[in-house]
Amino acid sequence: MAAMTSTGSSTRGATGRPLLNRRLAEFGTTIFAEMSALAVRTGAINLGQGFPDTDGPDEVREAAVRALRDGRGNQYPPGPGVPELRTAITEHQQRWYGLAADPDTEVLVTAGATEAIAAALLALVEPGDEVIALEPYYDSYAACIAMAGGTRVPVTLRPRDGGFHLDLDELRDAITDRTRLILLNTPHNPTGKVLTRGELATVAALAVERDLLVITDEVYEHLVFDGEHIPLASFPGMRERTVSISSAGKTFSFTGWKVGWLTASPALVAAVRSAKQFLTYVSAGPFQYAVAEALRLPDSFFTELRDELRAKRDILADGLTAAGFEVFRPQGTYFITTDISALGEKDGLAFCRALPGRCGVVAIPNAVFYDHRDAGRSQVRFAFCKKDDVLHEATGRLQRLAS
Ligand code: PMP
Ligand code: GLN
Repeated sequence: MAAMTSTGSSTRGATGRPLLNRRLAEFGTTIFAEMSALAVRTGAINLGQGFPDTDGPDEVREAAVRALRDGRGNQYPPGPGVPELRTAITEHQQRWYGLAADPDTEVLVTAGATEAIAAALLALVEPGDEVIALEPYYDSYAACIAMAGGTRVPVTLRPRDGGFHLDLDELRDAITDRTRLILLNTPHNPTGKVLTRGELATVAALAVERDLLVITDEVYEHLVFDGEHIPLASFPGMRERTVSISSAGKTFSFTGWKVGWLTASPALVAAVRSAKQFLTYVSAGPFQYAVAEALRLPDSFFTELRDELRAKRDILADGLTAAGFEVFRPQGTYFITTDISALGEKDGLAFCRALPGRCGVVAIPNAVFYDHRDAGRSQVRFAFCKKDDVLHEATGRLQRLAS
């Protein structure tokens, strides 16, 4: 079953043998590529793939230009990342979470969070190991677990009281003797759930009790509207077993730069670096210098970003509610998951493929982020990292659906 993607690949070589290997056979084109191409083809408003329609701060862009002009990072940067960025990452962890890290041994700069996730899984998972992930999950998780030869074990977040609920007993029951690690994402894409201190404490206690590693994907760490982001690494016993991942794409609105990073113990960083060095080796030289400056922006930059996005969340949530969708108002991220059953619709994938033709809007069907597709069949995700007038125009168009 193609759990994570919209289309499978059946291309065969001259001998009749499939070109794509068995590990990747179920993964066709990512839903983001399919839906963004649909938006381009139809001229629809793209509330599918999560990228802002406004670039990040001018001073950060200018820092990248300066680095390019000054010849900083135009040749291979050091494997772990340029020292300026590694230091800025540790300062950021200290400033926001009181977590200390050594920039030389406990930080690794990667090609976006995507490479950090891939390298961590490739480094830490043996074929046959089980990896627990919260479902619906970000699409690269399943593909990277498969590339590492691991077995994914989904624990399903279930809609309840206008949000999504993690059943901690289900998580506990999912752990077996073969479980190697838990791959956690908070704030969570696509549901917008932010794990609470209590939930994280239970995850931490389970990890310690069962001697598991945890990879935490925290790319939306600064996009929390209700509640707070608490890094799992800050819980007792977690420093030595957690790989914490983030990225400049979401926080600084430069998704195309693909500058990500991870922090972890020296032993874990060394392990993940073993895989990362053979993926890209290094990337984004001049952008690394610019992201170092971005991470040092004053607190007000981060809180203003959050407040702006909270207002956008409310515009989109209210507009979708008015259009007849059941809306799960997210506590974080820049996505809203909706249920389309209230519109008399059942199948999110068919709905999203038809939506540009029906009203000129593109969205993402959550079903592709589930192994238990039925659990997400009627869920559709909309991104709100867009200009206010774009959000108003899109929800106006969506309101025509019901009429
Ligand atoms: N994790 C999650 C949960 C995401 O939504 C995304 C998309 N930005 C990524 C990882 C990938 O981040 P990057 O673009 O930095 O590779
Ligand atoms: N993270 C983005 C999203 O969830 C997509 C990134 C990508 O296209 N791989 O929309």
